[in-house]
Amino acid sequence: MTHPTLVWLRRDLRLGDQPAFHEALKQGGPVIPLFILSPDMEALGAAAKWRLGESLAALSKDLSTIGSTLILRRGDPAGVLDALIEETGAKTVIWSRLYSAAQIERDAAIKADLQARGLSAISVNASLLFEPWTAQTGQGGMFKVYSPFWRAVRDRHIDAPLPTITQLPPPQTWPASDALQDWALAAQMNRGAAVLAKHSQPGEGAALDKLSTFLETKIAAYKAERDFLDRCATSTQSEHLSYGEISPRTLWHAGQSAMARGAAGAEHFLKEVVWREFAWHLMYHSPHIATRNWRDSWDAFPWRADNDDAMAWKQGRTGVPLVDAAMREIYVTGRMHNRARMLVASYLTKHLLTDWRVGQRWFADCLADWDEASNAMGWQWVAGSGPDAAPYFRIFNPDLQAEKFDPNGQYRARWLRATGPKASPDALDFFDAVPRSWGFSPDMGPAQPAISLSAGRARALNALQSTKAPQ
Ligand code: FAD
Repeated sequence: MTHPTLVWLRRDLRLGDQPAFHEALKQGGPVIPLFILSPDMEALGAAAKWRLGESLAALSKDLSTIGSTLILRRGDPAGVLDALIEETGAKTVIWSRLYSAAQIERDAAIKADLQARGLSAISVNASLLFEPWTAQTGQGGMFKVYSPFWRAVRDRHIDAPLPTITQLPPPQTWPASDALQDWALAAQMNRGAAVLAKHSQPGEGAALDKLSTFLETKIAAYKAERDFLDRCATSTQSEHLSYGEISPRTLWHAGQSAMARGAAGAEHFLKEVVWREFAWHLMYHSPHIATRNWRDSWDAFPWRADNDDAMAWKQGRTGVPLVDAAMREIYVTGRMHNRARMLVASYLTKHLLTDWRVGQRWFADCLADWDEASNAMGWQWVAGSGPDAAPYFRIFNPDLQAEKFDPNGQYRARWLRATGPKASPDALDFFDAVPRSWGFSPDMGPAQPAISLSAGRARALNALQSTKAPQ
């Protein structure tokens, strides 16, 4: 009799280009797909946790169409795996690697323990184009700046995506599974979950459909249009990449084919996909990027801790229209346009002189596409404290950004116009999503800025000069 193989799924919730399942099929026995609601997953922000539930529901459905079942268990992974090994007689456990320091440490300990007991533990790469340690500078160190990183990796051979899994041999008896609804992954969202659900299309099928649309209608103009807030010119793949509903290899090869066909924006799209790789390269080599100023010289900078102005920022009530529009977009959709992310991060850390970690945490709570590495890198890039950072004195002016990237005010109207005959349904959704305790209603008057744009800019520059934080 061939023993079953456990496939411990984490951020690889898909059947296409799924190396863990391919590896499991090589073992020759039944395959048991397993997801563990581990303490790190329990600690996710509200929107990311809600999105996890949607992703698991989608994968469960996809697995059932090929005669398989997703087993759900909750608890410490080592204990859960032990229990399932005992229950099923499995001799092999396979998973796709994760790259934050705590996850590496946990998984290495589990692997060593399983192997010490004569079991087979196999880890594969499913969530990056290449392992973060394989890119090295000429001196053998890590890259700290994106451009040389891009030059070093752009011509690498990246394996083609693996064929989509169409069958997984089932065990004679399926082990017991928790019911997904009992995990209540939407609980922290309260009434916001129903609003987010209107703006989200979870699952591998949705990811592939959106990719096709992007390749057919948007990639050619991607470079020229991606910064415009009033257009839907980007791939919107980030929320699918977050839980691995699609693989970066699939995006890479799609981008390469588009480039070969002469699509003008394709190379730029590939560069963006590699920004995500760069974020994980930084996270792997310098995990403190997620928690501390990447450069210690910034520790002396007089950023304010959480404060009332930052609360107004979170609530989309700064009185600066473009900032408020973006902060409502994130609350309603769980996403935010990349240019808007840079703008609101600049406004918080510069005009409001608030510690980037306040914003990082808010994003972690609100983003359905939350990615630990990209979020940390993005915040430190804008704040000026990161390895490859915009200089602190580069302060985005929200009015000029609006003129350039929302010239007709469509984006602002979409997220802010909540009254009158032309009220926008998206703007109204914001009031259905926010906690009742905020006491917000569509007819509340406009907010007044805590500080003018010019005074905020001057205060930020003074703070920079007084601490002489190196640029
Ligand atoms: P596209 O423009 O279609 O790009 C394709 C893919 O490339 C994206 O899906 C993403 O995986 C990658 N990519 C694009 N831009 C970046 C970038 N600047 N950094 C890293 N990867 C990039 N992205 C997240 O996925 N999760 C986050 O939590 C996150 N937090 C951010 C916080 C801040 C302060 C900033 C400035 C950026 C953050 N980003 C984050 C990066 C970026 O804003 C999003 O990846 C992008 O908006 C996703 O939209 P898209 O899928 O349509 O991107």
